[in-house]
Amino acid sequence: MKLNALLLLSTLGLGAVNGERLNRRHIAKRQAAAGTIVTTTAVTSPATVATTTSTQASTTTTAAAPAGTTTSTTSTVAQATTAVVVSSSTSSTTAAGQAGLTTTVSSGPPALATGTTIPPLSEITLGMPTRVTLAAETTITAGATPPISGAPVIPTPAASDYVLSSWPAQDKIPPTDSTEVQEWLKELDGYDIPDLSLTVNGSCAASPAQAADAANRGWWTCGGYTRLTDIVACPTKYDWGVSFDDGPSGYSAYLLDFLEEKDISATFFVVGSRVIERPAILLEEYMAGHEISVHTWSHSALTNLTNEQIVAELGWTRKAIKTFLGVTPTTMRPPYGDIDDRVRAISLAMGMVPIMWTRSPSGAQFDTNDWRVAGGQVAGNDSFASFEEILGNATLIDTGFIVLQHDLFEISVDLAVGYTLDAALTHSPAFDLKSIGSCSGIPEGNMYLETNTNTTFPYSNSTSVDVSGDGTVDTQSGTSNTTSGTTSGAFTNAIPFISSMGVGLAALSVLL
Ligand SMILES: [Zn+2]
Repeated sequence: MKLNALLLLSTLGLGAVNGERLNRRHIAKRQAAAGTIVTTTAVTSPATVATTTSTQASTTTTAAAPAGTTTSTTSTVAQATTAVVVSSSTSSTTAAGQAGLTTTVSSGPPALATGTTIPPLSEITLGMPTRVTLAAETTITAGATPPISGAPVIPTPAASDYVLSSWPAQDKIPPTDSTEVQEWLKELDGYDIPDLSLTVNGSCAASPAQAADAANRGWWTCGGYTRLTDIVACPTKYDWGVSFDDGPSGYSAYLLDFLEEKDISATFFVVGSRVIERPAILLEEYMAGHEISVHTWSHSALTNLTNEQIVAELGWTRKAIKTFLGVTPTTMRPPYGDIDDRVRAISLAMGMVPIMWTRSPSGAQFDTNDWRVAGGQVAGNDSFASFEEILGNATLIDTGFIVLQHDLFEISVDLAVGYTLDAALTHSPAFDLKSIGSCSGIPEGNMYLETNTNTTFPYSNSTSVDVSGDGTVDTQSGTSNTTSGTTSGAFTNAIPFISSMGVGLAALSVLL
């Protein structure tokens, strides 16, 4: 397999892929945007990138210097200066503080004086020297008009919305006794939420009884069981659904530059804890025409959480997105793909359709395994070998497919920008790379509650949602007179769509 990977690399001329393919004009603009506010950070050692969510989160605001060099790096301090409005000093200080950084403000050399190129594939591995994090390229002001027809203008968040401490603690399951969560729980009224026992930690091995019953539960993790209400593939053969999970991060901007250069739209499954750190990046993704979807607040395995905790995870992420973008996603992706009929029912009751990534009938996943590289389990070469399998599987199935990638770490962004997306774009037969809503034929407006005029999507019959959790309805969906609060027929009639003997991956304690 390694030999094949190398041959493919050679064929595609990727052996010397480098940062030249990045849009240097944009990088220069970002450097200018970063200004002279720099943060000096220590070199990140491999040990600091552990497998827990909270530790990984801290690395999103930390940029390490190439070994043996001295550098200054931009940080959330600079990033916050491009936030929509006000209070950048408050939010940036808080963000830096939470990340455990020692922040100093001084003049320095250009932030990207070193380390601007993407490393050779063999050198993309945990602990590699990393590039600086990038701020949003442009300042998007309140009142700006989004690219989606009929969408509300970009809102003016309150100053407190930029203060991390005004949100639930990052990377922790939000408490369920808040007034917001209590209000959101009312969205489950009238829905038939299956009374399934909780899994131990979302893994098959730790929950043998549930694993044995996975088909009945529709548990994706153990066997890949899905329902008709899940979006699991792009319908058209050779369509490539592009998705990036776990951001926004300080490396998302590199990816955004590449996507713009190649005129590719993607779907970003964002984590609420990251959204409040980098709202300007989220805005840039949205304003560039990419789709935004919910990926929970703390990135926990949802089959392990109570109904109330799942509502809190989805509700707070939805609220964070609405706060900074003015729209409410109608889709979600469960972390690790860990979903069963209980999680599904709650998501649908809250107006969010699950989007998975594709498994072939043989159980092969369209997963680039970039997260394994970021987790230190494999190196870039191995990840690309997995990717090569994706290319092979893609020609064997009758439909298109949705591919899992990540934009939380530089490692996964480098793999995408330098290697996998390039290979996808140059593949023969040609793939058509597009966002998941687009490849699914879903009108772009239907991806958000505020602009969704079709009450058959999402499947939920709910037409109004209290996104803010203050007890009053603040978002309407659709224009028809459908009633709310009844169980969706589409859901109750759902049957298993794909089953396989694939081994669940959630047992691996890394982000997915
Ligand atoms: Zn994830």
